Amino acid sequence: MSGTAGTRTRHHATEVAVVGAGPTGLLLAGDLAAAGHRVTLVERRAPGLSPLTRAFGVHARTLELLDARGIADDLVDTGAPLGEVRLFGGVTVRLARPDSRFGFLLVTPQFQVEALLARRARAAGVRCMPSTEVSGLAQDGSGVTLHLRRAPGADPANTPAVRTVRAQYVVGTDGHRSTIRRALGQPFPGVSVLRSMVVADVRLLEDPGENALTVRGVRGAVAFLAPFGDGYHRVFAWSAEEREPGSPVELADVRDTVWRAHGTDYGMYDARWLSRFHCDERQVPQYRIGRVFLAGDAAHIHSPAGGQGMNTGLQDAANLSWKLAAALDGVPGAEALLDSYHDERHPVGAAVVRSSGTILRLATAESAADLARLTVATGLLGGLPPLRRRIAGRLSGLDIRYPAPQGAHRLVGRRAVDVPLRGGGRLYASLRAGRHVLVTPDSVAAPAGTGVGVGVGGAVHEHWADPGRRDQWLVRPDGYLAWAADDAAARPPLTPAAELIA
Ligand SMILES: Cc1cc2nc3c(=O)[nH]c(=O)nc-3n(C[C@H](O)[C@H](O)[C@H](O)COP(=O)(O)OP(=O)(O)OC[C@H]3O[C@@H](n4cnc5c(N)ncnc54)[C@H](O)[C@@H]3O)c2cc1C
Repeated sequence: MSGTAGTRTRHHATEVAVVGAGPTGLLLAGDLAAAGHRVTLVERRAPGLSPLTRAFGVHARTLELLDARGIADDLVDTGAPLGEVRLFGGVTVRLARPDSRFGFLLVTPQFQVEALLARRARAAGVRCMPSTEVSGLAQDGSGVTLHLRRAPGADPANTPAVRTVRAQYVVGTDGHRSTIRRALGQPFPGVSVLRSMVVADVRLLEDPGENALTVRGVRGAVAFLAPFGDGYHRVFAWSAEEREPGSPVELADVRDTVWRAHGTDYGMYDARWLSRFHCDERQVPQYRIGRVFLAGDAAHIHSPAGGQGMNTGLQDAANLSWKLAAALDGVPGAEALLDSYHDERHPVGAAVVRSSGTILRLATAESAADLARLTVATGLLGGLPPLRRRIAGRLSGLDIRYPAPQGAHRLVGRRAVDVPLRGGGRLYASLRAGRHVLVTPDSVAAPAGTGVGVGVGGAVHEHWADPGRRDQWLVRPDGYLAWAADDAAARPPLTPAAELIA
């Protein structure tokens, strides 16, 4: 992203400071700026995008959230849609769903996601401070002061000399080694699960099967393959003879592991990226500490099995951004909304740590007992369509739901499916306003006043395309149901945000 070179101020004030311009920080900063707020994004790296591919897959729910920002179709154009996940040779999980425009896993490099989000953040007016790192913070009742310094190697002539940033709220999206988390004194409990896994982006002479992501393991070797759609495949490979974390990666080692796991190396050649990384499973106990929030890898990390890390971070950002905007807009009850960020997203993060850990442990099973469990589990899964559908719902993020208040309508807290609206529109296009959307039958007039829902201007009022529908939905800006009624007579809550939400 472009910087602010030449700025000589040493102190800078903003409404929200976001620390870390990875995918989580870019989405969050872009949302807040699009909602009309002053946002400063501090990033240690020099201007420009990270060249690392890292995440390779964008799941359906994340695509829906990007659709609600008008950028999903552009992202889909950059990658290859995969309709199936094949686990351990025994289970095929189909991702297609009639209730989503995106019944697939989009395989595309992380930098494509970041490029789109960076462009959107820039256009929305986010102030970026590249080559600048946060070294500490202090918070009080009215705000947070961040202490900054030039990142190592940054050119003083091109780096702003800002030394502190004062913000009403700070969000740490600064990755798994988060300075913000440490400055808050927050632990990051968990375990290291693999010392050394290899990632490679390669060409293959032999096609491993179209339109699927494939994971296979035998005792002591696991390999995972997915096509990018541009002639390259992403490979993750692990073998029990783990090398030291920093040791060099040779294509020959990747070939060897893939051969052992799949019975072929598919004739792999021309590695455009080879790297080694280690896997931890950790989660911070609190996502909110006063005026400071943690999101993305700063809050949770786990193995890449299931391809959830970036997706979960983007969904954290979508959950938090409208709540922060409500707080900045002075919406009554916004404190409870801000608390609900932890209440809603911490359990999702914990579930992702658990499920990616289960896939990894099954795949890397070494003991005969583990292998027996794997065989039974995959045999069972293979024979149980409802269970496979549950796995698909988990992987895609489409079945995530948030806790609802007692007595709430059964849909409250669930994801709103995209529906056609009168006049030719559809729900996720309407959500692009960044506000709640109230969908009612034609007979329901706009509620008195514009106070329904949170945020400036209240909710957007839409009508079902289907004239037979009598029910009503109030959909949050992040695409979850805040309120619903089965008949046209009910009135949506006109009152504070806290009543709309668990
Ligand atoms: C090999 C590999 C494969 C992966 N595959 C997948 C996948 O298929 N699907 C998936 O969903 N996820 C995957 N992940 C995980 C995914 O890459 C991360 O979950 C994702 O990048 C997290 O995004 P983030 O924005 O939270 O953090 P990051 O992307 O880590 O961004 C944090 C940013 O903060 C900056 N920063 C750090 N400290 C400071 C500081 N003190 N001051 C200022 N800036 C700072 C960093 O420079 C960085 O730009 C993979 C990860 C790896 C390593």
